[in-house]
Amino acid sequence: MYEIKNSKQVELSDRVRFRCIRCGACCRNVEGAVVIEAKDGYYLAKHLGITVSEFYEKYTRMFLLEDVEFPIFTLKVTGKDKACIFLNGKRCSVQDAKPRTCKMYPFWVCPDDKDGFQYNFSTEQSHHPKGSLVRVKDWMRDNLSEEDKEFFREETRAMSEIAPSYNILNKCLKDNTTIIEKVIFYRHLLYETDEPFMPQFKRNNRVLKDELERIIRKFTDI
Ligand code: SF4
Repeated sequence: MYEIKNSKQVELSDRVRFRCIRCGACCRNVEGAVVIEAKDGYYLAKHLGITVSEFYEKYTRMFLLEDVEFPIFTLKVTGKDKACIFLNGKRCSVQDAKPRTCKMYPFWVCPDDKDGFQYNFSTEQSHHPKGSLVRVKDWMRDNLSEEDKEFFREETRAMSEIAPSYNILNKCLKDNTTIIEKVIFYRHLLYETDEPFMPQFKRNNRVLKDELERIIRKFTDI
């Protein structure tokens, strides 16, 4: 789970001072920081009128999480100030389809242990915790959609099934390239943008889980 440093936990009922001066600073020096979840990749590809594979190829960079070697995608950056590839001057060029983390920023959420969410407010930018009061509940209503919440729940559920198999294979196999490719294919690439996202995401998670378990069985039968 990607977490933003320098942040504090908040409650839905809290009011937080926040000021945006539209300087674009949040979109600079973001190398490896703007994580692209499967849902983001699908909606950005749809917005840009390209296939999901083309989107990942052109606009993202893949890296493996330390220790677990799990593939994660982040947006590419450009220029000396390592600006997000979608930053145009001080404006986001994909405003209507920007990734969930960008939509929510400077707030961010993570699942709690009661099937709900923990809410956080980032204080990374010193000019943010100033200005008028924002009610956390209103911000979430406007920037965390029902589909986002459904995605989060399915992601948490699916990862609890996929991660154990992935870890076993990582330890057993000398070369884990095929496993990494499978995860990338099912979790990020296998989507038609003219079909709804969530049913495809759920199907892909099911197939990936079965595939990894099948490989483990094959491996342990040898
Ligand atoms: S996608 Fe848009 S909002 Fe997000 S970092 Fe890039 S330019 Fe900024």
